[in-house]
Amino acid sequence: MTKVAVVTGGTRGIGEAISLALQEKGYTVAANYGGNEERAHAFSRRTGIAIFKWDVGDHQACLDGCATVSETLGPVDIVVNNAGITRDSVLFKMSFDDWNEVLRINLGGCFNMAKAVFGGMRERGWGRIVNIGSVNGQAGQYGQANYAAAKSGIHGFTKALAQEGAKHGVTVNAIAPGYIDTDMVAAVPPPVLDKIVASIPVGRLGQPQEIARGVAFLCSDDAAFITGSTLSMNGGQHMY
Ligand code: NDP
Repeated sequence: MTKVAVVTGGTRGIGEAISLALQEKGYTVAANYGGNEERAHAFSRRTGIAIFKWDVGDHQACLDGCATVSETLGPVDIVVNNAGITRDSVLFKMSFDDWNEVLRINLGGCFNMAKAVFGGMRERGWGRIVNIGSVNGQAGQYGQANYAAAKSGIHGFTKALAQEGAKHGVTVNAIAPGYIDTDMVAAVPPPVLDKIVASIPVGRLGQPQEIARGVAFLCSDDAAFITGSTLSMNGGQHMY
């Protein structure tokens, strides 16, 4: 039976590229999305990949969503926690809602999805969880106290969960992308983005497919000895 992969936020941007890369590797892919119906349905028509709508920040919705995927496609072997949002502003302008919503979706989503699938993966003796962090969770970023905290939390969550999965054939890793050419980065004002690109040693934004190839590798059997690690894919912007 082919392995089943759930990609959250899997219908556009980096998530779309991840869904396609995993489909190309022969997995049965379930692409989750949060609310952009037009993009999700166009994606599904174009790729034949099944789409499932739920809010990853909603604990029960993740349990129910993963149960629906299992009933429809089979038990979930791979989860890529890619869904994420930004609500940028400096701290003195940041509302509690801006803080809470980013933590709820970006970090809470990883917990919710792991709760939904981790037990089954351990019982079956094989699983892959890949969490999408960020260079800004590693290095911090002006105006992103909420986002940096959530992404930094993902890196800690990954290392802790990796220890719980290791003896059961379940690896848990993170990828920390740098600036990637998607809608999220298109929202950055051009003068700010120009400065950011100038600070990237390779001299350009990354492409979603470049991140997707890293995810596909971490999901493969070739990566069985890699767990609890963070793969930085940022064009040299932040090295440590
Ligand atoms: P986009 O804004 O292009 O896409 C975000 C995706 O997340 C969409 O598919 C969206 O669904 C989904 N999503 C948002 N909120 C929810 C929710 N509550 N429930 C389910 N799905 C949701 O983002 P990117 O592709 O640029 O980013 C993908 C991931 O990579 C994010 O976690 C981001 O933080 C991270 N990242 C991105 C970088 C970049 O430079 N682009 C750099 C570093 C990290 P819908 O289409 O329905 O709105």
